[in-house]
Amino acid sequence: RDEIGRRLMRVAAAAGIEPLLARTTDQLSGGEAQSLAIAGALVLEPKLLVLDEPLANLDPANAHRLLTLVASLAASGTAVVLVEHRIEDALDAKPDRVLYLDDGATRFLGPVEEFLTQVDPRHVKVPFSIWLDRARPVTTRPGPERQGISDWRTPRLEWRGVTAGYEGVPVLHEVSARVGRGERVAVLGPNGSGKTTLFKTGIGLIRPISGSVLVDGADIAERSVAELIGTFGYVFQNPSQMLFAPTVREELLFGPRNLGRPADRFDGLVRQSLAEVGLTSEPEIEARAPLTLSFGQQKRLAIAVALAIEPRTLILDEPSAGQDYRSAASFMSEVERIAGLESVYFVTHDADLALAHADRILLLRDGRLVADGAPLAVIADRDRWTACNLRFTSLMEANRRWPSPDGRFESAEILAARVAAAGRGNSGGIGPAG
Ligand code: ADP
Repeated sequence: RDEIGRRLMRVAAAAGIEPLLARTTDQLSGGEAQSLAIAGALVLEPKLLVLDEPLANLDPANAHRLLTLVASLAASGTAVVLVEHRIEDALDAKPDRVLYLDDGATRFLGPVEEFLTQVDPRHVKVPFSIWLDRARPVTTRPGPERQGISDWRTPRLEWRGVTAGYEGVPVLHEVSARVGRGERVAVLGPNGSGKTTLFKTGIGLIRPISGSVLVDGADIAERSVAELIGTFGYVFQNPSQMLFAPTVREELLFGPRNLGRPADRFDGLVRQSLAEVGLTSEPEIEARAPLTLSFGQQKRLAIAVALAIEPRTLILDEPSAGQDYRSAASFMSEVERIAGLESVYFVTHDADLALAHADRILLLRDGRLVADGAPLAVIADRDRWTACNLRFTSLMEANRRWPSPDGRFESAEILAARVAAAGRGNSGGIGPAG
């Protein structure tokens, strides 16, 4: 009994979950639940610890804490196998070796350094220095400006002094914000800071304790459920909260059927929404049971379900969690081309994704809005950024060091090619000071 108590306190401190010990598990945010699950494995002090995407849903500061812990376990003799897409974070755990699987076959097994120089950086997200070492000096033209919807200033959603929470306990404190009809907005902040709660109040799943929420200028209380469902496609952080039908096809048609869409459009809607999330290559996908898909595929299916109702606004809670780099990046670009989709709002811990795909960033901390502005303006305040448990990625550092002529945040591919073309790749000294 004493030993249980000792281990519990030690693991809770190491995993940073002491404040959660008295909570019930169904009241935790996604990241909090993830930290708890990991602590549950650690408390057994196993000889071999297998962590399957432990970082999905963790903010960067919590991810770093976990990986430091993992590295110290490995140093003291525990074998650790870590399955991850977040390579730059995972390198924190100082892995001895990398096993890279694709299509069920081993593509690489060996030291990290060798892996980073061999892997295709368009498939696996490597640190920016690797891009630079391997960049060919070609002048890549950035893609065309997004065909934006002109009325981005008109708010689709507005929170006016919203205080909201659970069972009368506030989680959001007098939040006022607007997100526009033609905008792409990313919301970032520590685990448990209220990001999910913000959007759940925004679409009427949670009623504010005080303050009001406006949808297209009218109080949400005056909008019918049908109106709200037709406006917002909402994708939960955990896809299994959304998936319930026996087959993928039925899952996709549940919304359109209930909204009374004509049956002759069903085949087209199913095909189109699967294509939009890159799920068409999976054989017999329409007949599969949703919960037999991998986590990453379930996440994409959940997004397809939201898209099948052809919403004007898509709200995504952690779209890149559980996705490999190529899927996440191509999906976000794909979404920007969907006809009729006016706005995309997303919650993420992936700073590079936010910078590349958002027109504006909102930072939440302890249920309060601490920043609201253009991405490059928001990251200019480094202290505020790190106080929100976020880190500066190698791509962010590189964008600061070699700012693009038009002031846009550039992808690793474009930036590396531009820097190489200017012949500054390996010099370390010629480019503008970092
Ligand atoms: P984020 O999305 O920023 O990680 P959430 O909005 O999910 O955070 O949660 C904010 C806070 O509200 C957290 O402390 C979380 O534990 C708490 N919370 C979330 N859902 C519930 C619930 N159903 N009941 C009680 N508390 C909850």
